[in-house]
Amino acid sequence: MATMTLPPQVRQTASKPCRFCGHGVKRTFIDLGMSPLCETYPSPADLNRAEVYYPLHVQVCEKCFLVQLDEYESPENIFGEYAYFSSYSHSWLKHAEQYCDKMIRRFNLGDQSFAVEVASNDGYLLQYFLQRGVPVLGIEPAANVAEVAVEKGIPTLVRFFGTQAAKDLAAEGRCADLVLGNNVLAQVPDLNDFVEGLKIMLKPEGVLTLEFPHLLRLIDRNEFDTIYHEHFSYFSMLTTVRIMEAHGMKVFDVEELSTHGGSLRVYACRTESQTHDTQPNVRRLIAEEEGAGLGAVEGYESFARKVKQTKFALVDFLLTAAQEGKSVAGYGAPGKSATLLHYCGIGKDLIEYTVDRSPYKQGRFLPGTHIPIYHPDRIRETEPNYVVILPWNLKDEIMEQLQFIRKWGGRFVVPIPELAIY
Ligand SMILES: [Zn+2]
Repeated sequence: MATMTLPPQVRQTASKPCRFCGHGVKRTFIDLGMSPLCETYPSPADLNRAEVYYPLHVQVCEKCFLVQLDEYESPENIFGEYAYFSSYSHSWLKHAEQYCDKMIRRFNLGDQSFAVEVASNDGYLLQYFLQRGVPVLGIEPAANVAEVAVEKGIPTLVRFFGTQAAKDLAAEGRCADLVLGNNVLAQVPDLNDFVEGLKIMLKPEGVLTLEFPHLLRLIDRNEFDTIYHEHFSYFSMLTTVRIMEAHGMKVFDVEELSTHGGSLRVYACRTESQTHDTQPNVRRLIAEEEGAGLGAVEGYESFARKVKQTKFALVDFLLTAAQEGKSVAGYGAPGKSATLLHYCGIGKDLIEYTVDRSPYKQGRFLPGTHIPIYHPDRIRETEPNYVVILPWNLKDEIMEQLQFIRKWGGRFVVPIPELAIY
């Protein structure tokens, strides 16, 4: 069947200003329909209550190419009781420890240094700096999560980060040699206020590192389920460099990481800093993005077509399994599963239940679909024919842990980048 070439979708309603440059944004990157907030896990008592769905309509700014989603819900409502405790993933802890060792070596951090982490979660990362004698401060808005960090002995300020928080800390003489933000930049509604705050926190020769999912990988690896309401912005290297420059910082190095399906670790410092020479990686990655078309708005158009094909393949597989009387369970209850399941229209009739190692999620339900979340032992007890790995970025770790499903001929299903059965 011949496919029709459709003109670029243009929103009929009034455009909103770009989160970074203020230009009117009206071009669609991808429209994933409606979905509930993905980090709100209903308890049994919540099941008879209404649930609010918000549009997942992602747009791209034609001027600065920042890919962005409207902020439909206040950050306080989204992150006030955040269920994600970083310490529950072994590979994530290892990643954090390696990061700390690397920063200590590269920037000679010691007991006279000061490291500040923005959105420090339960202290999963700062604990390694503390163990190595580097003084730290965590800043974390979710009180229940910050409490866990404080119990571990990690100084943590319960507060949303922005210029005001940064100015208050700077006034107390608490600027840092290293400021870090891992997987937080995407979740910031007031991007300019946040980035300006990061600059304020830096000592004159201080270093900022930010890790965030890389838009280029989201597109070329088809990771559409990493789009959810908590992620307001999606960054290319091109756009990141522009944002840093607008706030008086320069990006002097970048690393590509395998975390979250392909992330960047960007190193920045104050523009006037003389200590940090710009590495060739920065130019190389920008050239790769330009080669992939991200330097022009037309380069953002093909993604939506690829995503639709992925949906068809997954739904087709699950319907066939259901008709053949095969049992299907999920593994994991990551935030991104809400996008995948809602966009694909998959409910309890196709995935009976899922399991998760986090005690917080056990006994609760996935948002919207109300697929129940159990302790991982449930898989041994029920011996499903298929286990759909929802956090596909951890598939190797999970398949190793779940090798026992082979005893009853169980198989793994990984939906992204394209449907694969192992
Ligand atoms: Zn813009």
